[in-house]
Amino acid sequence: MIAYINGKFIQENEVKISPFDRGFLFADGVYEVMRTYNGKIFKIDEHIKRLEYSLKEIKIDGFDINNVDKIINELISKNKLNNDFNIYLQITRGVSSPRMHAFPSKEIKPTVYIMLYPLIHASKEKKNGIKVQLEKDIRWTRCDIKSTSLLPAVLAHQSAKDNGASEAIFVRDGFITEGSHTNFFAVKKNIVYTPPLTNFILSGITRQVILEICRNNSIETKETNIEEKELRNYDEFFVTGTTTEIKPVIRFDDWIVKNGKPGMLTKKIQSAFKEYTLNF
Ligand code: PMP
Repeated sequence: MIAYINGKFIQENEVKISPFDRGFLFADGVYEVMRTYNGKIFKIDEHIKRLEYSLKEIKIDGFDINNVDKIINELISKNKLNNDFNIYLQITRGVSSPRMHAFPSKEIKPTVYIMLYPLIHASKEKKNGIKVQLEKDIRWTRCDIKSTSLLPAVLAHQSAKDNGASEAIFVRDGFITEGSHTNFFAVKKNIVYTPPLTNFILSGITRQVILEICRNNSIETKETNIEEKELRNYDEFFVTGTTTEIKPVIRFDDWIVKNGKPGMLTKKIQSAFKEYTLNF
């Protein structure tokens, strides 16, 4: 596979990153994950806008955001792929030595890396639903920034996996925030609930699409806090993300939701989402 690194298109196993890269030493960078449907990048403008926001919030400048679209498309055509795939893009504050916390001088350019990788379809999970594990949200309070510093998410997700769950769902001060790499939705009496956009969650592109789909299908939505202790009063749950799409949640730890099958409204939204991806 050909990857992009700092202006060059080269085989990904030939890419070299300096040990003085601040991404390596400090996780001082941001990223985006996109995907294609029928060869077309899904919601690229929204991803680029979120990338611009993340870069601004962590004060990385010196990267021309206007070129990103062109670079990604060039990378895709150079790889001559027939299937759909994921696109991973990472920008770090660049290489600077000796190691020190302070930002490097203005002449240091950010490191820009883009790679393509195969999709994992997980069709069974999308059809039958998944078990999730509730985890204390020990992440920082700027989860609205798509930072490469993902250790709490990695640890929570691994703990879920070790216990036979497919995703960890974070709880902060009694409220559900989001999953380790997904946004969280709940359904009660045909109304779709999802936590509001704050510094405690990522503004998911899929989340936005789901809310749009609900509006288009006259499904009422409420962006409001979901309390952990109220979970059992909801009828259905699902998680969303670029690589996840929509996965019904049928079990939280040892609690099986209703009859242990994906809910009706969840299935309706899943099929509307599928339709949406055929024509966007
Ligand atoms: N929340 C977190 C913490 C994530 O890492 C992701 C995946 N990027 C999402 C939500 C879902 O966002 P999106 O729909 O843009 O992939």
